[in-house]
Amino acid sequence: MSYKNFPMVSKVIFGRGSFNQLGEILSPNRLNMNAPFIYIVDDVFKSYPWLTSRIPLAYDDRIIYESANEEPKTSQVDKLVEDIILGCKERPSGIIGIGGGSMLDLAKAVSIMLTNDGETKDYQGWDIVKNKGIYHVGIPTISGTGAEVSRTTVLTGPSKKLGINSDYTPFDQVILDPELTKNVPKDQWFYTGMDCFIHCVESLNGTYLNAFSKSYGDMAYEQCKAIFLEDNLTQEETQDQLMMASWHGGMSIVYSQVGVAHAMSYGLSYVLGTKHGIGNCIVFDHLEEFYPKDVKLFKAMKSKHDIELPTGICADLSDKDLDTMISIALSLEPLWENAIGKNWKKSITPKKLKELYLKM
Ligand code: NAD
Ligand code: ZN
Repeated sequence: MSYKNFPMVSKVIFGRGSFNQLGEILSPNRLNMNAPFIYIVDDVFKSYPWLTSRIPLAYDDRIIYESANEEPKTSQVDKLVEDIILGCKERPSGIIGIGGGSMLDLAKAVSIMLTNDGETKDYQGWDIVKNKGIYHVGIPTISGTGAEVSRTTVLTGPSKKLGINSDYTPFDQVILDPELTKNVPKDQWFYTGMDCFIHCVESLNGTYLNAFSKSYGDMAYEQCKAIFLEDNLTQEETQDQLMMASWHGGMSIVYSQVGVAHAMSYGLSYVLGTKHGIGNCIVFDHLEEFYPKDVKLFKAMKSKHDIELPTGICADLSDKDLDTMISIALSLEPLWENAIGKNWKKSITPKKLKELYLKM
């Protein structure tokens, strides 16, 4: 048996207001005056100067605002890399992503593509990246995806939605400042938070489970229950705990895998553009037969926070679109193997997935 040897985030700082230390954290990593720090920032923060005014710009440093309305695309990464190469005197000193999973993934991908030739789509997969990326920093402003800690950057390309999974993907530095999550809209807070809950459920109920994944998964699962079902945390404690739950949930899947909800949600995302958090919720709501106890908990959380999920989103799809959705979901073999076991193909057929999708 050969075990995987995973890299982790090298440095992390946690605490309310720790974002103020960004300047001192970055400065030893500045290569020279002509090698800027590039900030990839969610454009929602254009209207939040409390955050942007604290970004420590110097020399040739710059902010690039990107929209999170659509999930990151390989073509978007190619364009960003081209703009950075053409617009900077030298290769940047660092790339800093500020935002949710979308901005964190963009920052990771840009860092890699600045030092690796060719197009981003050619690196979707496992361990294709040859060269170490540029120094990169992740600063989450919404909690749940675990993108701050993971070894992947999820991208939609011309033929697939698949991450760049590599030893060079994890951040060199992460800043966990729960205060930055204060303006997250409630629905989005729930969807992205449920991404974390679902990571735990899929990891803890998977056939790949081991003591490493279980210890992180158990911790994040309990935190999610306290955050989403109980009333004894203050708002600040809720923000702090969800940020840590996201981290632990991410750590849990580093050494295991996600499962049915993620496989099917990738299909929704590819065909309908449904975003990750809400997509997972839409799918998970119908997965009683796979995760009975946790789907019940999920429904209780949904009702406690008055969340209404869209319905009938697959009802008007053509057969061709449904087939594409099903084939994207079925292509994620490790997820099914984790969820169901080695013989998953016996029970997870196109017909079975069609029935499930048509319920959503
Ligand atoms: P997101 O980054 O798409 O952001 C969701 C929404 O919240 C956006 O409208 C954004 O503008 C807004 N937002 C973020 N922070 C805010 C704040 N502080 N105040 C107000 N609004 C704020 O959402 P997400 O759920 O964090 O990330 C989803 C993405 O992450 C998907 O692209 C998914 O594929 C990816 N993902 C990656 C990994 C990984 O390991 N790399 C894991 C899970 C998901
Ligand atoms: Zn997820």
